[in-house]
Amino acid sequence: MIHELQARSGVDIQANVPLSGCTSLRLGGPADCFAEPDSSEALARLLAAARALAVPVTVIGRGSNLLVRDGGIRGLVIRIGRPMSDLRQEGLTVTAGAGASLGELARFAAQRDLAGLAFAAGIPGSVGGGVVMNAGAYGGELGERVTRVEGVSQDGAFFTLSHDELAFGYRHSALQDADPAPIVTRVTFTLLPGSRAEIEAEMAELARRRAEKQPLNVPSAGSTFKRPAGHFAAALIDQCGLKGYAVGGALVSGKHAGFLVNQGGTAADFERLMNEVAARVLAETGVRLEPEVRVLGEASN
Ligand SMILES: Cc1cc2nc3c(=O)[nH]c(=O)nc-3n(C[C@H](O)[C@H](O)[C@H](O)COP(=O)(O)OP(=O)(O)OC[C@H]3O[C@@H](n4cnc5c(N)ncnc54)[C@H](O)[C@@H]3O)c2cc1C
Repeated sequence: MIHELQARSGVDIQANVPLSGCTSLRLGGPADCFAEPDSSEALARLLAAARALAVPVTVIGRGSNLLVRDGGIRGLVIRIGRPMSDLRQEGLTVTAGAGASLGELARFAAQRDLAGLAFAAGIPGSVGGGVVMNAGAYGGELGERVTRVEGVSQDGAFFTLSHDELAFGYRHSALQDADPAPIVTRVTFTLLPGSRAEIEAEMAELARRRAEKQPLNVPSAGSTFKRPAGHFAAALIDQCGLKGYAVGGALVSGKHAGFLVNQGGTAADFERLMNEVAARVLAETGVRLEPEVRVLGEASN
């Protein structure tokens, strides 16, 4: 399969790539085939080859919101990363390759006296993953600044979507609803005039608050659950006495109960912990927690 994919697309493909190295949780079995295209055109060729060979496709960014199961992912995993991470500015507009990190994007904007993305500096995702998830923090959401998204659908067609077509909501965009999932290649942000010194001071203050509250030195995928309407997931988990609760090497952080962390466990431990925490919270508080983390792949047998 790998040789045919490579021959048809002209894109370099690796076999059996451990996805634990591609996720912030440091968990996950191998991808059968793994590729990191360097342009939309290469991506479209890759998708055409996968379609012709009936190979299933999974897209990832920086893997900071993913739980990949221990058996890994069958078919082709495409990472939109470093080779598609160019940043360009024109007036109040910044256009970013989907593989750029949100940190790079926020610093790029600040250096050009453009405000509106300081909140994103500490979110460890890519621009593409950030738009799909409508990532947000400290009162800001990426969707508020996005004016246009370019991408390639899995049938190989190039598309553009406007802000309104993306239907952003809390940790949600229309990109999550399409099946098969379209792939984001480039995002245009419209920002506000600001002052570099002020924006950088705000980013430093938010980084300080993040480090104070969040367990940033252990592998996690950030907040494991979405914020349920009218509640905070971390407060509900804490209220159920689950801080420090563990399944194998997966643990509810003692620093921030909304963060489930990996301390040398397996993806199966982590998934069981997620399910047990959600079940306990439902039983004791009546509130249903929905995962924010996206679960991919197969269990190991
Ligand atoms: C320590 C820590 C702190 C965090 N803090 C926050 C926070 O404050 N706010 C917040 O919102 N999130 C936070 N997160 C979660 C995470 O960083 C965001 O959800 C981020 O937007 C995910 O981006 P990613 O590139 O890592 O996507 P991935 O995890 O790789 O993928 C997430 C989803 O997006 C899809 N996807 C990725 N790239 C593309 C693409 N180019 N085209 C189409 N689909 C794509 C994937 O298929 C998957 O469904 C945190 C995570 C960690 C580890």
